[in-house]
Amino acid sequence: MASIRVHSPIPGPRAQAVLERRHAAVPRGVFHFTPVVTHRAKGAIVEDVDGNQFIDLAGGIGCLNVGHSPDALLKEFHEQGERFFHTAFSVSAYEGYVRLAERLNQLTPGKFAKKTLLVNTGAEAIENAVKIARSYTKRPAVICFEHAFHGRSLLALSLTAKNEPYKAGFGPFVADIHRIPYAYCYRCAYQLQYPSCQVACAHALGEMLAKTVPAGKVAAVIAEPVLGEGGFAAPPREFFKELLGICRSEGILFIADEVQSGIARTGTLFACEQYGIEPDLLVSSKSLGGGMPIAAVTGRAEIMDAPGVGGLGGTYTGNPVACAVALAALDLVEKQNLCAQARHLGELFMERAARWQAHWPSIGAIHGLGAMRALEFVRDRKTREPAGEETKAIVKYCYERGVLILSAGTYGNIIRILMPLVITDEQFLEALTILEAAIAHAFGGAGEA
Ligand code: PMP
Repeated sequence: MASIRVHSPIPGPRAQAVLERRHAAVPRGVFHFTPVVTHRAKGAIVEDVDGNQFIDLAGGIGCLNVGHSPDALLKEFHEQGERFFHTAFSVSAYEGYVRLAERLNQLTPGKFAKKTLLVNTGAEAIENAVKIARSYTKRPAVICFEHAFHGRSLLALSLTAKNEPYKAGFGPFVADIHRIPYAYCYRCAYQLQYPSCQVACAHALGEMLAKTVPAGKVAAVIAEPVLGEGGFAAPPREFFKELLGICRSEGILFIADEVQSGIARTGTLFACEQYGIEPDLLVSSKSLGGGMPIAAVTGRAEIMDAPGVGGLGGTYTGNPVACAVALAALDLVEKQNLCAQARHLGELFMERAARWQAHWPSIGAIHGLGAMRALEFVRDRKTREPAGEETKAIVKYCYERGVLILSAGTYGNIIRILMPLVITDEQFLEALTILEAAIAHAFGGAGEA
């Protein structure tokens, strides 16, 4: 049976009324991809205030790998809520925080002794990772990448690459941040081809250290193992091996930002596992909380212990309800074997996407790993001119027909999928049929599938 039910224009009358109030009460800077106003959601299905039913390929921007409100998470949410909402971990500790820290210490790549700091958001975790790296190395500089997204608070935003809309008007930014090319092969900074390029972009780190900022001043290199907002480019394996080799020999820490790629999305609990790398600090968030706001910095114990007592924390950090729900979410990932499910969904997508790419020259590239997949749209395969407007039209076509899907990319010309990994094959294929019609609508010609 079909899961999509759309019986009004989107937005419908009730959604329209909420959106009018939203525009009056909430600043325009708070972007929304779709004019959908949610009433409730379960699994991979979202119902709006007008009773329309959508298949969710956005997953709250990658936060819902275990699906919307699974019963096991609701149970923990209620049990913890009944006991207490908040004490502030720095006023009186609670076991949930400690259990989640122990769990992440055990689950993140690397067999060495680790410790975990819990905070509220991805950006906050990134900020803390940089503070910890500076404190440990006693060095100021951080090296980050083109196309990176690390958050919107000022240090995190300084690490984020894209100007419009994220950085415009918000400077000055934090000093001592340096940016080098990422292994985004489809838009190679050097116009080279993999593998004959010999991962020239990774050598840019050595160049940067030789020409601009000496290694003795660099605390950390920070990278997303697969680009998130930048559009899901997944670098060749050698890229991270090379970067890590330089970091290790120069005493520079390597911070992996797995905020979007973590918690089974790419087919392993963390994408770093597939690259065979063990970061000194790993940042996780989004699906860690199963929809509750929580984020973590997990790292080598001696590094994590560098800041002095009182140097880390925050009123709400490691909220008890969020910890309880996060532990239940990690249980579900294991019980429902969501890593294998991510690989399966990725294969379903790739099979369909390869046929689309053969049919539509406008699909310049297919990016990603596991169930973290994206299509990059271009006006011309040779010039690779980004098809930003057409991509916007695809998002609109999809939500008007019952599929929530997001764009991404420095040029806004990428469609990414971040569906709950508990989506059924039937629901996923139903959504992909709409996506296919949307591509046909934007670029002409009927689909193949
Ligand atoms: N890092 C990455 C890779 C992200 O994708 C995001 C959010 N899209 C962030 C950091 C920031 O997370 P938050 O929005 O929770 O601050």
